Amino acid sequence: MDCIFCKIAKKELPADIIYENDDIVGFKNINPESPTHLLFIPKKHLEWKDNFNHNDLLILASLINGAKIVAQEKNILNACKLIFNIGQTGHIDHIHLHLLGGWTKSVPKYNI
Ligand SMILES: [Zn+2]
Repeated sequence: MDCIFCKIAKKELPADIIYENDDIVGFKNINPESPTHLLFIPKKHLEWKDNFNHNDLLILASLINGAKIVAQEKNILNACKLIFNIGQTGHIDHIHLHLLGGWTKSVPKYNI
């Protein structure tokens, strides 16, 4: 499958990985929309149109927990955003969770 996120998960493409467990990888977005802009992806290729089994749902929960852990580590948990783009709002079908934060002044209402 020609999926850029699958290749990152398999380490076939470089990425600045900041979090990883058995099921997910978190890495820096190469085109950041905020001072901290990370992406969390399942290692397994999952799309929103898929029918999720129980393990898939645990993986999706792990995305949120991974983002929370990193937000705590980066001390941005007081003001950050977690965003899933679904369908035509996104560019890559492989499910990915955006973690945005690190603003020093005001928090933008919409930025992605
Ligand atoms: Zn993929």
